[in-house]
Amino acid sequence: MNKKEILSNYKKKINKLKDYNKAYYDDSNPKVSDEEYDGLKKKILKLENEYNFLKSKFSPSNIVGFKPSKNFKKSLHKAPMLSLGNAFSEEDLVNFEKKLINFLSLKKNYEIYYSAEPKIDGISASLTYKKGKFYKGLSRGDGKEGEDITENLSTIRDIPKTILSKDFPEEIDIRGEVYIQNSDFKNLNEKFANPRNAASGSLRQKNPEDTKKIPLKFIAYTYGYQKGLLVNNQSDFLKKLNEWGFKTNPLNKVISGIKNLLINYNEVEKKRANLDFDIDGIVYKVDEFMLQKRLGNVANAPRWAIAHKFSSNKAISEILDIEIQIGRTGALTPVAKIKPINIGGVVVSNATLHNEDEINRKDIRIGDIVVVERAGDVIPHIISVDLKKRPKNTIKFEFPTKCPSCGSKTIKEFNTITKKIDAVRRCSSEGYDCDQISVEKLKHFVSKDAFNIDGFGKKIVEGFWKIKIIKYPQDIFKIDYNKIENLDGWGKLSVENLKYSIKEKKNISLERFIFSLGIRHIGLENAKLLSKHFISFKNFKNLSKQKKFDELLNIDGIGETQVNSIKNFFLNNTNIKILNELEKVLNIKNNQIKKNDGRLKGKTFLVTGKLNGISRAEIKSLIEENSGVTVSSVSKKLDYLIIGEKPTKRKVENANELNIKLIDQNEFFKLINKTS
Ligand code: NAD
Repeated sequence: MNKKEILSNYKKKINKLKDYNKAYYDDSNPKVSDEEYDGLKKKILKLENEYNFLKSKFSPSNIVGFKPSKNFKKSLHKAPMLSLGNAFSEEDLVNFEKKLINFLSLKKNYEIYYSAEPKIDGISASLTYKKGKFYKGLSRGDGKEGEDITENLSTIRDIPKTILSKDFPEEIDIRGEVYIQNSDFKNLNEKFANPRNAASGSLRQKNPEDTKKIPLKFIAYTYGYQKGLLVNNQSDFLKKLNEWGFKTNPLNKVISGIKNLLINYNEVEKKRANLDFDIDGIVYKVDEFMLQKRLGNVANAPRWAIAHKFSSNKAISEILDIEIQIGRTGALTPVAKIKPINIGGVVVSNATLHNEDEINRKDIRIGDIVVVERAGDVIPHIISVDLKKRPKNTIKFEFPTKCPSCGSKTIKEFNTITKKIDAVRRCSSEGYDCDQISVEKLKHFVSKDAFNIDGFGKKIVEGFWKIKIIKYPQDIFKIDYNKIENLDGWGKLSVENLKYSIKEKKNISLERFIFSLGIRHIGLENAKLLSKHFISFKNFKNLSKQKKFDELLNIDGIGETQVNSIKNFFLNNTNIKILNELEKVLNIKNNQIKKNDGRLKGKTFLVTGKLNGISRAEIKSLIEENSGVTVSSVSKKLDYLIIGEKPTKRKVENANELNIKLIDQNEFFKLINKTS
């Protein structure tokens, strides 16, 4: 990369960071996980380190938080409110102490005492007291200037409004964290990803009456400007805070030596899931105020403190229960219910255990203390069990030999291809004979790539199933709408909309119809192959009479596994009944022979973003029906990029650079002479 490119890349990253900061600090609604945010921050700092011409006043090494919102009066902090440097490993701590010793020119073996304080994950506030009266309260803002949130802070019970103690300074900014307890967070109706966002959103409400409704707490831990403070170290200051009527963290400790800091860190991390407040690390502060003063600050953080962060993708928690979920194909999936724990900004309470073999291999038991990982978009899972912490009398988890839903035997199949017994245990009942499988089958039936019924999501399937409005797929097309109108959460308009969406989807292509049946091993591609082979629904249904299953092996792409699965499907009377009933209510279109000279001949397409009322699978088959081709990335070979809602920015940018035509779904329909 040349200098210009490096600079442009750096600026792009800084702008991204600004955008994320606004979402996190100002809107209390982060756009990305903490892991992704911290990754971006690291990349920026690395670039600045490599190329000294890269500078920005918005660099993460300079800024604190985000500028105050226009919703509040702004007010300057008499002493800046800073952020904290971070440590993630023992090495980082050793380097931190080395730097302190060098800066202060102390003997190498000088024993520095630290106040080790759990780092509550809330938002900081500065409370100014004058002559013992709470006078003004500010948020951190950008560190120099905060939002005047006095009225909102006044609604918090933990904040003393008057302090009569004789040794309370004449004027002082008491600083601490406003947070929401985990137990209160659970009861909140509003949707926030974690207690920190909930606290931030609640505290910065325009109307203090709204703040009052939410049970916010305050823990004090430091001071800003002061006049008349007669204390010499942080640990004594914390004691004084208690005497003056502030709450402080009961887990605060004074510790010296990196080894002891690490022991404390590990102990607190193990307690984390049992605390009623969210913490994301431990803050170490040099205890002596004299030393703090000499050390001073860097641009955005004190030199005398560091936050030893917990991992943003792993945490320790306890297994409360192991639940067995049953999927559409009868697979039994064990899920661990864990004590809720915040991993990198997301409160995790479920972790997949994959299958029976995984549980046995790791000997995972109810009551175990475990390490849970949540990285990227992967479903949280258990990494390891702390056997030393295993409570006495726990019992080995026995995987159910009977289906928890219908009581049928559970079985592990022999895979003829791998010549191994499957790791997955399944319910042996046939589809609709097992309640749980039925519900999952119905969810699949209405899903995006199948019938794609607008407004008929998983929750609705479950709800309608429970009150016996639907049991089999055909019931969807015979719903008694009068019954629904009287249900909670439904009204005339929503019922009309549902009626319309269901009616609209009565016309369906044979391939989507076959896919929607949810036959095991028959995904979208195989459904397409079968549809081409059978051409009409009649031919497909005739399989039940003719039983020429082996002939299907002649279809390129269809193997023994698929044929056995189709055979099982047709040998089940309930399935045949469903086919007969669906035939009566649907218009299943014959397979369209692909036109080789269709309107889109020789043209390539790619879709980005969410389309309206049409799934990716459907638009793909429309393209193919009209002799077009879909491709998977933007390149010179692409003719049209179809843009939906929230498209991938990069794809649009690349397409623009390559002069590729950008069209929306309506323009696409025009190309094939179809109205949407
Ligand atoms: P920080 O939260 O890491 O540390 C500083 C803060 O710690 C202080 O302002 C104070 O509020 C708090 N604190 C709690 N207990 C304390 C104690 N005993 N003593 C002193 N301070 C204490 O710093 P930050 O700059 O506010 O935020 C950075 C963090 O926010 C990172 O973890 C980052 O991942 C996250 N973040 C995420 C996003 C996102 O989009 N996901 C965006 C911005 C920031």
